[in-house]
Amino acid sequence: MLQSKLLTKISKTFPEGEESKNAKWLIRGGFIAKSSSGVYSILPLGLRVLRNITEIVREEMNALGSEELAMPALVEKKYWEKTGRWGVDVIYKTGNEENKKDEAHDFEFGLGWTHEEVMTAIANNFIQSYRDLPKSAYQFQTKFRKEVRAQGGLLRGREFLMKDLYSFHLDEKDLESFYLKIWKAYNNVYKRVGLKTIVAEAGGGDFTKQYTHEFQVLNTAGEDLVYYCSKCKFAQNKEVFKPENHKDCKEEILNAKAIEVGNIFRLGTRYSEAFNLKVKLESGEESRVVMGSYGIGITRIIGTLVEEYSDERGIIWPKSVAPFKAHFINLRKNKDKEFKKFFALYEKLNKNSNEILFDDRADKSAGEKFAESDILGIPLRIVCGEKTGIKLEIKERSSSKFKLVSYKEIEKYLAV
Ligand SMILES: [Zn+2]
Repeated sequence: MLQSKLLTKISKTFPEGEESKNAKWLIRGGFIAKSSSGVYSILPLGLRVLRNITEIVREEMNALGSEELAMPALVEKKYWEKTGRWGVDVIYKTGNEENKKDEAHDFEFGLGWTHEEVMTAIANNFIQSYRDLPKSAYQFQTKFRKEVRAQGGLLRGREFLMKDLYSFHLDEKDLESFYLKIWKAYNNVYKRVGLKTIVAEAGGGDFTKQYTHEFQVLNTAGEDLVYYCSKCKFAQNKEVFKPENHKDCKEEILNAKAIEVGNIFRLGTRYSEAFNLKVKLESGEESRVVMGSYGIGITRIIGTLVEEYSDERGIIWPKSVAPFKAHFINLRKNKDKEFKKFFALYEKLNKNSNEILFDDRADKSAGEKFAESDILGIPLRIVCGEKTGIKLEIKERSSSKFKLVSYKEIEKYLAV
């Protein structure tokens, strides 16, 4: 991709009215644009990061044998009434008393903030026998949640992208076995995107009465407070924290602010009861289906990565999610032999993957180009200039060291 052709430009200043580090850098770098408070557009550069994260999550969910689907964002009132959740204060609702009189609007919809109800209704069409279990399905979908105070950039939005997976089981034992598998898959996801998480016990909110598990990244930008032990695996969210639960370990309990990047819920039979989802057993008896639901905040991961990986010069993307693999920067004034060689290498490496950004702009100084490259946070910077001779200068965004290397070596660096 030629930098001169990008839709976006890097801003010289931080946006006004944004306090969070992630929103500041992401807007300045042209990854996202603020549309309203808590509502952001994901711009082409941001979408590259989002797709990389999505692909990692998709691979891990597929590895569990789960299937991807897409449910509607518009969810009719009747679904939520079955579980008593139409009244929760996070739903953006369409329709009102006045337009109820109009037949065409004689219904009410809410913008989906979670999809247990819709998924259970779908499952009812296909799950009838114990032989149909277990099953699971997931989606990546824009969710909507009313937030009184939408701050924190991508950490707490009114509209955000989520991966939500729902599982259906014959009994609690089977749910438990899946629960442990998806726990492991979540650990893989966070490791692959570059986040260190701790798993904290938490309350179930509007979902379940049982303990749930939250995947938390310890970071001062977070809104959660987690109590944890650095020696054993004990960790609890502040709402459920009881010091007496930390047994058989003498280490002191610490607490820290944290960003919740995922959660897993054992739902039991609450939703299958509401939607009368049951299966016929071998004995001929009927049994309620046991369910679980599991979320990962995709856009929130982007925000968390910037909170975790940025310095005074900009973002430092982990390689696995970076918008481009490498940033080629041309400093040569003339399109001479060396420039042509450099451009040919870019074309060769970029041809199939489109994962190289080439700074071809003639109206920017070397200093401006380097500063902008640091803001973008692409893992490798490769420079061709008068000073680099027949070689190229290579520098990792995360390091201050640079060196001159041959063209052959550059190809090795960029090999998959
Ligand atoms: Zn401990």
